Amino acid sequence: MSFDLLKECENAKRIGISGHVRPDGDCVGAVLGMQMYLRKCLPGAEVKAFLEKPAEIFREIQGYDGIDSAFPTEEPFDVFLALDCTADRLGEAEKYFRAAHKTVNIDHHVTNSGSGDINYIRPETGSTCELLYDLFDPDRLDRELAMALYVGIIHDTGVFQYSNTTPATLEKSARLISYGFDFPRLIQETFYQKTYVQAQIMGRALMESIRFMNNTCIVSVVYKKNMDFYDVEPSDLDGIVNQLRNIEGISCAIFMYQTDVQEFKVSMRSDEKVNVAEVAMHFGGGGHARAAGCTMRGNFYDCINNLSLHISEQMKENEGAQAD
Ligand code: 5GP
Ligand code: MN
Repeated sequence: MSFDLLKECENAKRIGISGHVRPDGDCVGAVLGMQMYLRKCLPGAEVKAFLEKPAEIFREIQGYDGIDSAFPTEEPFDVFLALDCTADRLGEAEKYFRAAHKTVNIDHHVTNSGSGDINYIRPETGSTCELLYDLFDPDRLDRELAMALYVGIIHDTGVFQYSNTTPATLEKSARLISYGFDFPRLIQETFYQKTYVQAQIMGRALMESIRFMNNTCIVSVVYKKNMDFYDVEPSDLDGIVNQLRNIEGISCAIFMYQTDVQEFKVSMRSDEKVNVAEVAMHFGGGGHARAAGCTMRGNFYDCINNLSLHISEQMKENEGAQAD
Protein backbone atom coordinates (compact mmCIF):
# COMPACT_ATOMS: atom_id res chain seq x y z
CA MET A 1 0.00 0.00 0.00
CA SER A 2 1.78 3.13 -1.13
CA PHE A 3 0.75 6.47 0.17
CA ASP A 4 2.44 9.84 -0.30
CA LEU A 5 1.10 12.24 2.30
CA LEU A 6 2.55 15.42 0.82
CA LYS A 7 1.38 14.50 -2.66
CA GLU A 8 -2.17 14.05 -1.37
CA CYS A 9 -1.98 17.53 0.16
CA GLU A 10 -0.17 19.38 -2.64
CA ASN A 11 -2.11 22.36 -4.03
CA ALA A 12 -4.40 22.35 -0.98
CA LYS A 13 -4.84 25.86 0.39
CA ARG A 14 -6.76 24.83 3.48
CA ILE A 15 -6.12 21.59 5.35
CA GLY A 16 -8.06 20.41 8.41
CA ILE A 17 -7.03 17.68 10.84
CA SER A 18 -8.95 15.89 13.56
CA GLY A 19 -9.06 12.70 15.63
CA HIS A 20 -11.52 10.84 17.79
CA VAL A 21 -13.80 12.05 20.55
CA ARG A 22 -12.30 11.83 24.06
CA PRO A 23 -8.82 12.13 22.52
CA ASP A 24 -6.07 10.03 24.12
CA GLY A 25 -2.29 10.52 23.92
CA ASP A 26 -1.93 8.87 20.53
CA CYS A 27 -4.72 10.94 19.07
CA VAL A 28 -3.42 14.25 20.45
CA GLY A 29 0.19 13.47 19.47
CA ALA A 30 -0.88 12.46 15.96
CA VAL A 31 -3.10 15.50 15.33
CA LEU A 32 -0.53 17.99 16.63
CA GLY A 33 2.37 16.13 15.02
CA MET A 34 0.57 16.15 11.67
CA GLN A 35 -0.19 19.86 12.05
CA MET A 36 3.49 20.66 12.76
CA TYR A 37 4.67 18.55 9.84
CA LEU A 38 2.26 19.96 7.27
CA ARG A 39 2.93 23.54 8.37
CA LYS A 40 6.64 22.90 7.99
CA CYS A 41 6.45 21.14 4.63
CA LEU A 42 3.62 23.16 3.07
CA PRO A 43 4.21 26.73 4.27
CA GLY A 44 1.70 28.12 1.76
CA ALA A 45 -1.21 26.14 3.19
CA GLU A 46 -3.42 27.03 6.13
CA VAL A 47 -3.48 24.04 8.49
CA LYS A 48 -6.01 23.80 11.33
CA ALA A 49 -6.49 21.20 14.07
CA PHE A 50 -9.86 20.42 15.64
CA LEU A 51 -10.35 18.20 18.70
CA GLU A 52 -12.45 17.98 21.82
CA LYS A 53 -10.33 19.72 24.44
CA PRO A 54 -7.51 17.29 25.29
CA ALA A 55 -6.45 16.73 28.90
CA GLU A 56 -4.15 19.41 30.36
CA ILE A 57 -1.31 16.88 30.67
CA PHE A 58 -0.74 17.30 26.95
CA ARG A 59 -0.31 21.09 27.12
CA GLU A 60 3.44 20.93 26.46
CA ILE A 61 2.96 19.53 22.98
CA GLN A 62 3.42 22.34 20.48
CA GLY A 63 0.10 23.55 19.09
CA TYR A 64 -1.96 22.47 22.11
CA ASP A 65 -3.25 25.99 22.78
CA GLY A 66 -4.20 26.47 19.14
CA ILE A 67 -6.48 23.42 18.94
CA ASP A 68 -9.98 24.51 18.00
CA SER A 69 -12.48 22.82 20.33
CA ALA A 70 -15.37 25.14 19.43
CA PHE A 71 -15.89 23.59 15.98
CA PRO A 72 -17.03 26.81 14.24
CA THR A 73 -18.59 26.91 10.79
CA GLU A 74 -15.79 26.73 8.20
CA GLU A 75 -15.57 26.88 4.44
CA PRO A 76 -15.04 23.35 3.10
CA PHE A 77 -11.42 22.24 3.49
CA ASP A 78 -9.46 21.20 0.42
CA VAL A 79 -8.13 18.23 2.35
CA PHE A 80 -9.40 16.94 5.68
CA LEU A 81 -7.48 14.28 7.59
CA ALA A 82 -9.08 11.92 10.13
CA LEU A 83 -6.41 10.41 12.35
CA ASP A 84 -6.58 7.44 14.74
CA CYS A 85 -10.27 6.72 14.00
CA THR A 86 -13.02 6.33 11.42
CA ALA A 87 -15.01 9.40 10.35
CA ASP A 88 -17.96 8.47 12.57
CA ARG A 89 -15.80 8.89 15.70
CA LEU A 90 -14.75 12.44 14.82
CA GLY A 91 -17.58 13.90 16.87
CA GLU A 92 -18.28 17.52 15.93
CA ALA A 93 -15.39 17.53 13.43
CA GLU A 94 -17.26 15.02 11.28
CA LYS A 95 -19.03 17.93 9.56
CA TYR A 96 -15.69 19.19 8.16
CA PHE A 97 -14.83 15.70 6.97
CA ARG A 98 -18.19 15.31 5.18
CA ALA A 99 -17.88 18.71 3.47
CA ALA A 100 -14.19 18.47 2.45
CA HIS A 101 -13.14 18.25 -1.19
CA LYS A 102 -10.82 15.36 -0.36
CA THR A 103 -10.70 13.17 2.74
CA VAL A 104 -7.76 11.17 4.05
CA ASN A 105 -8.10 8.56 6.79
CA ILE A 106 -4.92 7.46 8.58
CA ASP A 107 -5.30 4.90 11.37
CA HIS A 108 -3.96 1.74 12.99
CA HIS A 109 -7.22 0.27 14.30
CA VAL A 110 -7.97 -3.19 12.96
CA THR A 111 -11.68 -2.38 13.04
CA ASN A 112 -11.26 0.55 10.62
CA SER A 113 -12.11 -0.47 7.07
CA GLY A 114 -11.35 3.01 5.72
CA SER A 115 -13.72 5.95 5.68
CA GLY A 116 -11.87 8.46 3.48
CA ASP A 117 -11.33 8.99 -0.23
CA ILE A 118 -7.77 7.94 0.53
CA ASN A 119 -7.16 5.44 3.33
CA TYR A 120 -3.96 4.43 5.00
CA ILE A 121 -4.78 1.87 7.68
CA ARG A 122 -1.94 -0.13 9.25
CA PRO A 123 -3.30 -2.41 12.00
CA GLU A 124 0.15 -3.97 12.48
CA THR A 125 1.49 -0.62 13.71
CA GLY A 126 1.24 -0.01 17.45
CA SER A 127 0.10 3.60 17.31
CA THR A 128 -0.95 6.24 14.82
CA CYS A 129 2.08 8.27 15.92
CA GLU A 130 4.41 5.42 14.99
CA LEU A 131 2.65 5.22 11.65
CA LEU A 132 3.16 8.97 11.11
CA TYR A 133 6.85 8.51 11.89
CA ASP A 134 6.98 6.13 8.92
CA LEU A 135 5.14 8.60 6.68
CA PHE A 136 7.17 11.69 7.60
CA ASP A 137 10.45 12.63 5.95
CA PRO A 138 13.06 12.01 8.68
CA ASP A 139 14.96 15.15 7.59
CA ARG A 140 11.93 17.23 8.57
CA LEU A 141 11.76 15.99 12.16
CA ASP A 142 12.65 18.37 14.95
CA ARG A 143 12.49 18.35 18.74
CA GLU A 144 8.85 19.43 19.04
CA LEU A 145 7.60 17.05 16.39
CA ALA A 146 9.64 14.19 17.86
CA MET A 147 8.11 14.86 21.27
CA ALA A 148 4.54 14.81 19.90
CA LEU A 149 5.08 11.45 18.19
CA TYR A 150 6.82 10.03 21.25
CA VAL A 151 3.82 10.91 23.44
CA GLY A 152 1.53 8.94 21.15
CA ILE A 153 3.84 5.95 21.07
CA ILE A 154 4.23 5.72 24.85
CA HIS A 155 0.49 6.08 25.45
CA ASP A 156 -0.61 3.42 22.98
CA THR A 157 2.14 0.95 23.98
CA GLY A 158 1.77 1.52 27.74
CA VAL A 159 5.36 2.82 27.74
CA PHE A 160 6.61 -0.03 25.53
CA GLN A 161 4.92 -2.69 27.62
CA TYR A 162 2.06 -3.99 25.45
CA SER A 163 2.44 -6.58 22.71
CA ASN A 164 2.03 -3.88 20.03
CA THR A 165 5.63 -2.83 20.85
CA THR A 166 8.01 -4.17 18.20
CA PRO A 167 11.76 -3.87 17.71
CA ALA A 168 10.93 -1.19 15.11
CA THR A 169 8.87 0.74 17.68
CA LEU A 170 11.89 0.86 19.97
CA GLU A 171 14.26 1.82 17.17
CA LYS A 172 12.01 4.67 16.11
CA SER A 173 11.58 5.79 19.71
CA ALA A 174 15.35 5.73 20.19
CA ARG A 175 15.69 8.10 17.25
CA LEU A 176 12.94 10.31 18.65
CA ILE A 177 14.55 10.73 22.08
CA SER A 178 17.82 11.69 20.36
CA TYR A 179 16.14 15.08 19.78
CA GLY A 180 16.72 15.77 23.44
CA PHE A 181 13.31 16.42 25.00
CA ASP A 182 12.86 15.47 28.64
CA PHE A 183 11.33 12.03 28.09
CA PRO A 184 11.38 10.74 31.69
CA ARG A 185 9.36 13.74 32.79
CA LEU A 186 7.02 13.36 29.81
CA ILE A 187 6.36 9.71 30.71
CA GLN A 188 5.83 10.52 34.36
CA GLU A 189 3.61 13.57 33.82
CA THR A 190 1.48 12.35 30.92
CA PHE A 191 1.25 8.63 31.68
CA TYR A 192 1.79 7.70 35.32
CA GLN A 193 1.02 10.79 37.36
CA LYS A 194 -2.49 11.10 38.79
CA THR A 195 -4.12 13.97 40.60
CA TYR A 196 -5.35 13.22 44.10
CA VAL A 197 -8.99 12.85 43.02
CA GLN A 198 -8.01 10.68 40.08
CA ALA A 199 -6.22 8.37 42.51
CA GLN A 200 -9.19 8.41 44.86
CA ILE A 201 -11.74 7.48 42.24
CA MET A 202 -9.41 4.81 40.89
CA GLY A 203 -9.08 3.38 44.40
CA ARG A 204 -12.80 3.31 44.77
CA ALA A 205 -13.30 1.65 41.37
CA LEU A 206 -10.76 -1.05 42.25
CA MET A 207 -12.31 -1.62 45.67
CA GLU A 208 -15.80 -2.01 44.22
CA SER A 209 -14.76 -4.19 41.28
CA ILE A 210 -16.44 -7.58 40.86
CA ARG A 211 -14.95 -10.72 39.38
CA PHE A 212 -17.12 -13.11 37.35
CA MET A 213 -16.90 -16.07 34.97
CA ASN A 214 -14.79 -18.15 37.36
CA ASN A 215 -12.75 -15.10 38.34
CA THR A 216 -11.34 -14.71 34.83
CA CYS A 217 -13.17 -11.43 34.17
CA ILE A 218 -13.49 -8.31 36.25
CA VAL A 219 -15.74 -5.30 35.98
CA SER A 220 -16.04 -1.98 37.71
CA VAL A 221 -18.47 0.86 37.10
CA VAL A 222 -18.47 4.55 37.96
CA TYR A 223 -21.86 6.26 37.89
CA LYS A 224 -22.54 9.86 37.02
CA LYS A 225 -23.32 10.66 40.63
CA ASN A 226 -19.86 9.39 41.67
CA MET A 227 -18.23 11.51 38.98
CA ASP A 228 -20.14 14.55 40.18
CA PHE A 229 -19.16 13.81 43.79
CA TYR A 230 -15.44 13.74 42.94
CA ASP A 231 -15.89 16.46 40.31
CA VAL A 232 -14.14 14.40 37.63
CA GLU A 233 -14.44 14.15 33.86
CA PRO A 234 -14.14 11.00 31.75
CA SER A 235 -10.43 11.66 31.07
CA ASP A 236 -9.83 11.48 34.85
CA LEU A 237 -10.82 7.81 34.67
CA ASP A 238 -8.04 6.87 32.23
CA GLY A 239 -5.87 4.10 33.57
CA ILE A 240 -8.47 2.39 35.74
CA VAL A 241 -9.08 -0.37 33.21
CA ASN A 242 -5.33 -1.04 33.00
CA GLN A 243 -5.14 -1.49 36.76
CA LEU A 244 -8.02 -3.98 36.59
CA ARG A 245 -6.20 -5.89 33.86
CA ASN A 246 -3.09 -6.13 36.06
CA ILE A 247 -4.91 -8.36 38.53
CA GLU A 248 -3.67 -11.94 38.60
CA GLY A 249 -5.83 -14.47 36.74
CA ILE A 250 -7.81 -11.86 34.81
CA SER A 251 -8.24 -12.49 31.08
CA CYS A 252 -10.68 -9.68 30.46
CA ALA A 253 -11.04 -6.42 32.38
CA ILE A 254 -14.03 -4.15 31.84
CA PHE A 255 -14.38 -0.61 33.07
CA MET A 256 -17.61 1.32 32.52
CA TYR A 257 -18.67 4.84 33.30
CA GLN A 258 -22.11 6.27 32.95
CA THR A 259 -22.57 8.81 30.16
CA ASP A 260 -26.35 9.23 30.35
CA VAL A 261 -29.48 7.62 31.76
CA GLN A 262 -29.12 3.94 30.82
CA GLU A 263 -25.94 4.59 28.83
CA PHE A 264 -22.34 3.56 29.57
CA LYS A 265 -18.98 4.01 27.91
CA VAL A 266 -17.20 0.68 28.08
CA SER A 267 -13.43 0.09 28.02
CA MET A 268 -12.02 -3.42 27.74
CA ARG A 269 -8.55 -4.90 28.10
CA SER A 270 -7.67 -8.53 27.64
CA ASP A 271 -5.04 -11.18 27.15
CA GLU A 272 -4.72 -13.60 24.25
CA LYS A 273 -7.82 -15.55 25.32
CA VAL A 274 -10.23 -12.76 24.45
CA ASN A 275 -10.30 -10.54 21.37
CA VAL A 276 -12.05 -7.48 22.75
CA ALA A 277 -12.16 -5.73 19.37
CA GLU A 278 -14.55 -8.49 18.27
CA VAL A 279 -16.62 -8.05 21.42
CA ALA A 280 -16.76 -4.25 21.01
CA MET A 281 -17.78 -4.54 17.36
CA HIS A 282 -20.97 -6.37 18.36
CA PHE A 283 -22.00 -3.19 20.14
CA GLY A 284 -20.98 -0.70 17.46
CA GLY A 285 -17.53 -0.01 18.93
CA GLY A 286 -14.06 -1.12 17.97
CA GLY A 287 -10.38 -0.90 18.77
CA HIS A 288 -7.63 -3.49 19.01
CA ALA A 289 -7.56 -7.18 19.93
CA ARG A 290 -6.43 -6.40 23.48
CA ALA A 291 -7.80 -2.90 24.02
CA ALA A 292 -11.18 -1.86 22.72
CA GLY A 293 -14.30 0.07 23.64
CA CYS A 294 -17.91 0.77 22.84
CA THR A 295 -20.96 2.62 24.12
CA MET A 296 -23.81 0.49 25.49
CA ARG A 297 -27.39 1.19 26.44
CA GLY A 298 -29.32 -0.39 29.30
CA ASN A 299 -28.55 -0.75 32.98
CA PHE A 300 -25.25 -2.03 34.33
CA TYR A 301 -26.49 -5.64 34.54
CA ASP A 302 -27.87 -5.63 30.98
CA CYS A 303 -24.50 -4.45 29.73
CA ILE A 304 -22.54 -7.08 31.65
CA ASN A 305 -24.88 -9.87 30.57
CA ASN A 306 -24.52 -8.87 26.94
CA LEU A 307 -20.76 -8.50 27.15
CA SER A 308 -20.31 -11.83 29.02
CA LEU A 309 -22.02 -13.70 26.23
CA HIS A 310 -19.50 -12.50 23.67
CA ILE A 311 -16.54 -12.78 26.02
CA SER A 312 -17.31 -16.42 26.78
CA GLU A 313 -17.65 -17.10 23.04
CA GLN A 314 -14.21 -15.61 22.57
CA MET A 315 -12.81 -17.73 25.38
CA LYS A 316 -14.22 -20.87 23.82
CA GLU A 317 -12.80 -19.92 20.41
CA ASN A 318 -9.37 -19.14 21.81
CA GLU A 319 -9.17 -22.05 24.23
CA GLY A 320 -5.68 -23.43 24.31
CA ALA A 321 -4.08 -20.13 23.28
CA GLN A 322 -0.72 -19.73 24.99
CA ALA A 323 0.26 -16.70 27.00
CA ASP A 324 2.91 -14.55 25.29
P1 5GP B 1 -10.11 3.06 25.64
O1 5GP B 1 -10.65 1.88 26.38
O2 5GP B 1 -8.74 3.43 26.11
O3 5GP B 1 -11.06 4.20 25.56
O4 5GP B 1 -9.93 2.57 24.15
C1 5GP B 1 -9.20 1.42 23.80
C2 5GP B 1 -9.08 1.35 22.28
O5 5GP B 1 -10.37 1.13 21.71
C3 5GP B 1 -8.57 2.63 21.64
O6 5GP B 1 -7.75 2.28 20.55
C4 5GP B 1 -9.80 3.34 21.20
O7 5GP B 1 -9.56 4.16 20.10
C5 5GP B 1 -10.75 2.19 20.87
N1 5GP B 1 -12.15 2.54 21.21
C6 5GP B 1 -12.64 2.89 22.43
N2 5GP B 1 -13.96 3.14 22.37
C7 5GP B 1 -14.32 2.98 21.08
C8 5GP B 1 -15.56 3.10 20.37
O8 5GP B 1 -16.61 3.44 20.93
N3 5GP B 1 -15.53 2.85 19.02
C9 5GP B 1 -14.38 2.46 18.37
N4 5GP B 1 -14.42 2.25 17.05
N5 5GP B 1 -13.21 2.34 19.01
C10 5GP B 1 -13.16 2.58 20.33
MN1 MN C 1 -4.14 4.97 18.71
